[in-house]
Amino acid sequence: MSGLLSGLEQFGLSGLENMDLYEKPKREAAAKTAEEQVIQEQDFLFDKTFTCPICDKEFKSRTVKIGKAKLIGTDMDLRPKYEHVDLLKYDIIMCPSCGYAALSRYFKFITSPQAKRIKEIISSKFKPITVQKDIYTYDEALERYKLTLANAIVKMAKPSEKAYICLKTAWLLRGKGEALDKKAPNYEEEKKKVNAQEKEFLKNALDGFLAARQSENFPMCGMDEPTVDYLISVIATRFEQYDVASKLISQVIASPSVNPRMKDKARDLKEQIIKEIRVKNAAK
Ligand SMILES: [Zn+2]
Repeated sequence: MSGLLSGLEQFGLSGLENMDLYEKPKREAAAKTAEEQVIQEQDFLFDKTFTCPICDKEFKSRTVKIGKAKLIGTDMDLRPKYEHVDLLKYDIIMCPSCGYAALSRYFKFITSPQAKRIKEIISSKFKPITVQKDIYTYDEALERYKLTLANAIVKMAKPSEKAYICLKTAWLLRGKGEALDKKAPNYEEEKKKVNAQEKEFLKNALDGFLAARQSENFPMCGMDEPTVDYLISVIATRFEQYDVASKLISQVIASPSVNPRMKDKARDLKEQIIKEIRVKNAAK
């Protein structure tokens, strides 16, 4: 590029004189695999209209098409994994006008004192969002989860709801960690950061579910008692709280109403707990 931008120097912008007028086509962009071109994240989503129970305004939110994504497995703590897409990114419904946000299963259910608190503490300061995105990055999804947790604290939600938000945030962070570019120069550092964040949310989920178990009825967050006990056991094991983990997992195994798949998972976990305790005692 010679001449087109010469003279910018007089504005103090000589550094911009060599900019290309037209971008050269990038090779990387052209080298997408056939699969990526065919299957895109937005194929699993559509716009659903909601009415905000706080400010009464209608808005559209990206919502998952039921049955479209294929479940390919679950982590030990029941985090669901789908082919081609991480649906966890789309489980928050957020009003772009007033900042009310909740997990989809809780969105409609709000009492008038709770609405009043959200209006006073969140909506009064919230800057409305005007841009609508087709898909969310992990960081955008994470912001929505954090706003949801803030809403839950403000509305004084039950421990189970707050624990469930923390659990799903931890799952989202695990997804983020798995999606990081392993070739990036700061990969190790980023991965460490994301792992630490995941652990913090998981610990808070554990505390919340333990409190909820003492004070709330089942089903809890759509889970029956053995499922919640199994989940608590898995997370407690991760934090080496073996007393809690062993006690609850034995109850799951002994319960006559538990389905065989859950029972198998529970037996596997029990074995793991026994092994971990043995290793720990041997190191003493
Ligand atoms: Zn609203």
